[in-house]
Amino acid sequence: MRIVALAGGIGGARFLRGLLHTAPESDITVVGNTGDDISLFGLRICPDLDTVMYTLGGGINEDQGWGRADETFTLREELAAYDIGPAWFTLGDRDFATHIVRTQMLDAGYPLSAVTEALCDRWRPGVRLLPMTDDRVETHVVIEDADGRRAVHFQEWWVRLHAGVPAQSIASVGAEDAKPAPGVLEAIEAADVVILPPSNPVVSVGTILAVPGIRAAVAAKTVVGVSPIIGGAPVRGMADACLTAIGVDTSAAAVAAHYGPDLLDGWLVDTADAETDVDGIAVRSRPLLMTDVEATGQIARAALDLAGELSS
Ligand code: GDP
Ligand code: CA
Repeated sequence: MRIVALAGGIGGARFLRGLLHTAPESDITVVGNTGDDISLFGLRICPDLDTVMYTLGGGINEDQGWGRADETFTLREELAAYDIGPAWFTLGDRDFATHIVRTQMLDAGYPLSAVTEALCDRWRPGVRLLPMTDDRVETHVVIEDADGRRAVHFQEWWVRLHAGVPAQSIASVGAEDAKPAPGVLEAIEAADVVILPPSNPVVSVGTILAVPGIRAAVAAKTVVGVSPIIGGAPVRGMADACLTAIGVDTSAAAVAAHYGPDLLDGWLVDTADAETDVDGIAVRSRPLLMTDVEATGQIARAALDLAGELSS
């Protein structure tokens, strides 16, 4: 079976681990969000692609959900001693190596898709990992605080401010002129099913869908999504702050309606949201907490079963 998944960072990566566990023989292409990418210390950092690569490749810090296991922070301390920031974005020594390799290759003229493939040669994630685009797209957030009204990079709002200042709007800067990376549309067209893992609907899945051509290609397929919202709250993180910014309620039903019946055929919600009813979308409920690989595999299996039911 050919499966395409659109993934952000932690929620996407954990789901994908379950998907690989339950469907090890399938051919899985992951289209990763690059709207969170940022340049710091002269290096290009792709947090969501790396979270997927490290998680599936066995190098992730399991407790944190991002960054490398067995990490040290000597480089960060040395930079701080020179007063070189930002101090709010944590990068470990092992992680730095990934960003150095990526930046060297980008500077040599390789597109991000080729760089990602080269990094995955080491990590062997068991899926084909593609950035949504090779073009530069950055999520920016308009906020207003003591320093006035201004747009900041998504990471500054999310990591430095912990989304504590309300977002007045969220924009994918550069998205309208971006092209899907090589292989993205082809993989979607060839897919038997497209899965939307429980990733952030606004700044992960929403950003991927904002790249011209991707949404239409996905909408033409059998699409099943897994709700990242359980009982009216994100399981972890601050996705509610993103949903509020775009005027969508933090509920499993509102997120499905936001994706819309033109995009989504099936929607998995948690048993806490069993009453969820969305026009034009087949809703099924089951436990959706990704507590371990086994439980996550069962969620992924339920998504594939629902897709099978809806495409037959
Ligand atoms: P990020 O890029 O690291 O923020 O990660 P994603 O966009 O891939 O996923 C973040 C989303 O995962 C959060 O908004 C949570 O709602 C969701 N999430 C995290 N853990 C779980 C879980 O155990 N079950 C479900 N259903 N959603 C989860
Ligand atoms: Ca992210």
